[in-house]
Amino acid sequence: MNYGCCRDNNEIPMITIEGDMGGDPIWCTNCGCNLDIDKIPLGKELKVALWQWMHNYGKWIDWETDTLLPNATEQERLHNKKGQKLTWNVQQALNGEYIVTFKPSTSVELYTEIARFDMNE
Ligand SMILES: [Zn+2]
Repeated sequence: MNYGCCRDNNEIPMITIEGDMGGDPIWCTNCGCNLDIDKIPLGKELKVALWQWMHNYGKWIDWETDTLLPNATEQERLHNKKGQKLTWNVQQALNGEYIVTFKPSTSVELYTEIARFDMNE
């Protein structure tokens, strides 16, 4: 199989599940390139679940003002919990043929740091 990145050379491909703003929700752990989800042997249901999960990324951020919504911490926590569960499902589906890792969202932490920096200016 050809994945179009360094995974072609790996005996056991390593993938990372990360909900982000662009691309597919699956990334190469090794080189960080975005992978075509259709090239990973996952069931349709699981793929749809991953897309839906990814689509919900950042719903705790007000994109117009670029600030966190009041319940951001809780929302991000739930999003990460769901992502962790999906990662587990992916791991099961791939039956140990892939090493699957989950990269949780840290946007709340990031935005909080930016806000702190702005205040100190
Ligand atoms: Zn790679």
